[in-house]
Amino acid sequence: VVTPSVGIALYPSDGIDAQTLLKNADLAMYFAKRRSPGNFSYYDAAMNAAALQRFTIEAQLRGAMARGEFSLHYQPQFDVRHGSVSGMEALLRWNNAELGLVPPSQFIPVAEETGLILEIGEWVLREACAQARRWRDQGLPLLRMAVNVSGQQFILREFPALVAAIIRETGIDASMLELEITESVVMNDEAWAETALGLLKAQGVQLAIDDFGTGYSSLGRLRNFAVDRLKIDRSFVASLSDNDEDRAIAAGIIAMSRSLRINVTAEGVESFPQLMFLQEHDCNEAQGYLFSRALPADDAQQLLRRALESA
Ligand code: C2E
Ligand code: MG
Ligand code: MG
Repeated sequence: VVTPSVGIALYPSDGIDAQTLLKNADLAMYFAKRRSPGNFSYYDAAMNAAALQRFTIEAQLRGAMARGEFSLHYQPQFDVRHGSVSGMEALLRWNNAELGLVPPSQFIPVAEETGLILEIGEWVLREACAQARRWRDQGLPLLRMAVNVSGQQFILREFPALVAAIIRETGIDASMLELEITESVVMNDEAWAETALGLLKAQGVQLAIDDFGTGYSSLGRLRNFAVDRLKIDRSFVASLSDNDEDRAIAAGIIAMSRSLRINVTAEGVESFPQLMFLQEHDCNEAQGYLFSRALPADDAQQLLRRALESA
């Protein structure tokens, strides 16, 4: 199947010579291609700025690891019934001298397109496990460390072995590590997903489906995979108070997960009415600004220490 992408530049508004027109049409084509295959796009001056921004991100990202510009923040996940901390999700942060603090939504896609995500993702996994080990060594009540895994890492045939090696190296209990993968990653290659998830499960690692509900995959098919947890996407939680359909979807996901004995975490909980809805529907866990933002390691450690003291 051939899918053409077309970029269009107009004379004279987008250029008065052939070279400029072609350059701008080419840039427009690049945007059309990234939106979806088989699309067209008109040139627009904002594209130059966007392309420059992306180019700068890519150039800076290449040396970021060597310069030690990455760090992890940790967002606590709470048990809805008891109010206790049930785990932490490691979230990647990039602080660059030229660009400042770049949000993951901007640099993760670039890291994925360039393949840099493999090196970065491995570092994240190792660092999160090492941190979990340090907290456990200090006697802090950390039950679970959740780590986001990109589709590119997951499809690598060596991925399950890499996870095993990092668990061994850092000396954590495999059962305290939870890998977060999105639905589309599982559904893109179901045969491999089944094999990989089986290999990871055999080690005792926990598996969560991140941003659940956005990929329109069927719970029936997901049930065939050894999934331990669904994380209800933030978009459903955000509209719980004003959108009946989203409320029905969230309630449906919670009810189905419960009957399939899959844990369920609501993401992006920002208000008490949202929390009350989740409590009413017996959602096990919640994560969001209402409880805590993602915290630098020191602050996350203090939170765990307070949890220990109050317990
Ligand atoms: P995610 O895994 O779904 O992570 C949750 C995101 O929602 C985080 O944004 C978190 O800070 C944000 N969040 C949490 N609670 C709330 C809330 O109450 N309200 C709102 N508005 N937002 C909330 P962040 O840290 O910017 O990460 C964005 C995404 O980047 C993540 O989504 C994940 O897909 C990706 N990401 C982050 N770290 C990594 C990583 O180490 N590896 C990979 N592959 N992806 C990562
Ligand atoms: Mg996540
Ligand atoms: Mg999510």
